[in-house]
Amino acid sequence: MPKILLLGAPGAGKSTHSAKTTKDFDIPAIATGDILRDNLKRETDLGKKAQSYIETGELVPDDLMIALIKDRLGEDDTKNGYLLDGFPRTIAQAEELDAYLTDHGSGLDYVIYLNAPKDILVSRIAGRRFCPDCKAAFKASEVPDGVCKACGAELVVRKDDDVATAEKRIEVYNEQTAPLVDYYKEKGILAEFDASGNADDVQAEIDKVLGVE
Ligand code: AMP
Repeated sequence: MPKILLLGAPGAGKSTHSAKTTKDFDIPAIATGDILRDNLKRETDLGKKAQSYIETGELVPDDLMIALIKDRLGEDDTKNGYLLDGFPRTIAQAEELDAYLTDHGSGLDYVIYLNAPKDILVSRIAGRRFCPDCKAAFKASEVPDGVCKACGAELVVRKDDDVATAEKRIEVYNEQTAPLVDYYKEKGILAEFDASGNADDVQAEIDKVLGVE
């Protein structure tokens, strides 16, 4: 089973495509944003340390994120592959991940890069709703009753999805995360997708690369 990384700016569609791909391969989604939000909710030490960064759209410091991901990748459900969503977000995180994967067998199989222009990212972020229970994501227009289609929980708007914070997150992405595109291109494992269109069409292109029938 593959080890897949979804790379792309906020609003590019990472959680949407993660949902289908993890189901197809029956692998866990490891979304560092979800893990941090759970920690925030439970008021753990990590949650308290991460809160101000998340709420202002900045990145949580590398040392905290690297410790978090090593912990998570050490769990049993990762033995047969997984999909990373939202990690790594800096070159330092990517290098640490590479070193960890080399020590534990083999590296990533695919880096799926979802590319979309800023105006589309901002309008998608402004119109999205999240399920706090099963983590599904929806367009507000698809869920007029505000209820999760997957599990029936009440959907929420993420605090950091307001326009000003969304723009800040895109700026942070361009400065700190976009360099990962070249990093993985040089390793020969990056597949780039135009993620500005319809999600089903983008998923069909991703499926071709991943060999999903
Ligand atoms: P996301 O749900 O992936 O958009 O992440 C929400 C927020 O969590 C980000 O804006 C960051 O503040 C923080 N975060 C998530 N993943 C990382 C990471 N790999 N490195 C640093 N901060 C992160």
